[in-house]
Amino acid sequence: MSHSTSSAAAGDIPVFDRIDDFRAWRREQLKQNKTVGFVPTMGALHEGHLSLVKAAKEECDSVVVSIFVNPAQFAPHEDLDQYPRTFDTDYQSLASTGACAAILLPRVSEMYPSGITLDRSQQRGTFVDVLGLSHQMEGIPRPHFFRGVATVVTKLFNIVQPERAYFGQKDAQQCVVVRNMVNDLLLPIRMRSIPTCREADGLAMSSRNRYLTPEMRKVATLLYRALGAARQSVVGSGNKERKQILEPAYGIIEEVVQQVKDQQLGFDVRLDYLSLVDVATLTELEQLEESQPAILSGAVYVGTTRLIDNILLNAEEL
Ligand code: AMP
Repeated sequence: MSHSTSSAAAGDIPVFDRIDDFRAWRREQLKQNKTVGFVPTMGALHEGHLSLVKAAKEECDSVVVSIFVNPAQFAPHEDLDQYPRTFDTDYQSLASTGACAAILLPRVSEMYPSGITLDRSQQRGTFVDVLGLSHQMEGIPRPHFFRGVATVVTKLFNIVQPERAYFGQKDAQQCVVVRNMVNDLLLPIRMRSIPTCREADGLAMSSRNRYLTPEMRKVATLLYRALGAARQSVVGSGNKERKQILEPAYGIIEEVVQQVKDQQLGFDVRLDYLSLVDVATLTELEQLEESQPAILSGAVYVGTTRLIDNILLNAEEL
C-alpha cells in the first residue's frame, strides 16, 4: 500500500484500509462537530466521480470517498478481475479536488466477514434485497446486481455513518434502489443524486469507457443520441404512447448497428434494452401521463463493453 494512515503528512489525504482505523477518524469528526458527506465508488475515477466529491464538499464539512470493487455485484461471467484498479491516479485526482478529507479502501475480507463467492447458490451471510425495484431494467440482465449494491452500500454506510451520501444519476436505478433502502431501513442519511457528467459529444463518463478503441469510441454516443431522440418525441411532438416515444430511439440504434456492420470495423454494436419507467415504481410505462416523472434508459454493447445511460422526463432529479 503506497499510502497509509501512519505516513499521512500534512495536506495528504489519509487512506484507511482498516475499518477500525477509519472509525477512530470518524469519531474525531464527530467530536469536532463536523458533518460527513460520503461518495461510494469502485475507483478508476473520472470527472463524474469528482463532481460528486465537489457536490458533497459544498454541503458537508468532511467528504469521505470509498474505493471498493464489490465482488457481490458481479456475476461469475462478468468483469470483476478485469475491472480497472488505478489507485495511484485515483489518489492524485482526489487530491487535486482539494475536497476529499479521507479515503476508505476496505479489504474484501473485512467487508465480507462470512466470505464472498460470486456463485450465488454458495453464498453465506447477510444480504440486503430491495424488493420490487431490483428485478427490472438493469436487474434483468444482472439479477444479482442490486442485491450486491444494496448490501455493500449498507455496510459502507455502517462504517462511514455519513450525514449525506452522494450518487450519480448515471446509475438511475441505483439511485432509486438506495433511496428506498435508506427509507425502508430508517437510516439517518440524506441521499443526494447528482446529474450525469458527459464528454463533449454527450457520452456519459464511465470507468468502462477506457475499454473502447478509438473506432468504438466514435460510435459510442449512439445510446445518448437515441435517448435524446426519444425525449424529443415527447417534448417536441407531444407523444405519449410508449411505442411512439421509443421508435426514434430504436431507429438511431438500428442505423448505427447497420453502419458498423457495413463498414466491417471488426466489432459489433448491439442493443441490450431500452426502457421507459415511472420514476417512483420503476414499472414500464405503456403510456406517459401529462407531467409524469419518468426515466428513459438503456444499455448497449459496443464490442464487448456494455454502456448504460439515461435521461429524465418531467423530473430534474432522482
Ligand atoms: P462507480 O465507481 O461506477 O460505482 O460509480 C460511483 C458513483 O459515481 C456512482 O454513484 C455513480 O453513479 C457515479 N458516477 C459514475 N459515472 C458518473 C458520471 N458520468 N456522472 C456523474 N456520476 C457518475
